Amino acid sequence: MDALSCVLSAREILKNITPLKTDCGKYCGAACCDCDEDGQGGMVLFPGEEKLYEALPEGMELSPYDAILPGMKLLVCDGVCSRDERPLSCMLFPLTPVVTETEGKDALKVIVDPRAFSVCPLSESGVRGMDAEFVRAVREAGKVLCKNPQIRAYLKALNVYFERLRSWS
Ligand code: SF4
Ligand code: SF4
Repeated sequence: MDALSCVLSAREILKNITPLKTDCGKYCGAACCDCDEDGQGGMVLFPGEEKLYEALPEGMELSPYDAILPGMKLLVCDGVCSRDERPLSCMLFPLTPVVTETEGKDALKVIVDPRAFSVCPLSESGVRGMDAEFVRAVREAGKVLCKNPQIRAYLKALNVYFERLRSWS
């Protein structure tokens, strides 16, 4: 399965599902869409997802982002978008699938994105504090994403990146 098809399937799985049954943005003022002091925020695009932003929606731009793997792109936004234009990372937040490797064996895991702890009030309650349907959808999305070797490699690199972040904190 090519990367874009996997991303589109994952987006389809998640498009109507949110971390809580109620609108969690009401509790935090949609903190995950807040901009930084430059008036911008951003989310890393999955491999293949860049193709969906060849014609960029108003207020969005792409910038290179090599922190996890070379050649990745960050979708920079101004804190407002239509639901259909949200990148997959925004649909998954504050969870994310990662691929861990132990003794040569890969395993798909769903975890709270460590970058969410400073932003999202739901993070502290962990995966179990979120709506079970959302957690299931993130896992299903993760399984679909792993069908593409490039995305699987990205999810592995993401896990290594998170381990690096944890070792710095
Ligand atoms: S920061 Fe967390 S609680 Fe707030 S809108 Fe985003 S996902 Fe929901
Ligand atoms: S792309 Fe949309 S959902 Fe994602 S951070 Fe920006 S405004 Fe929020």
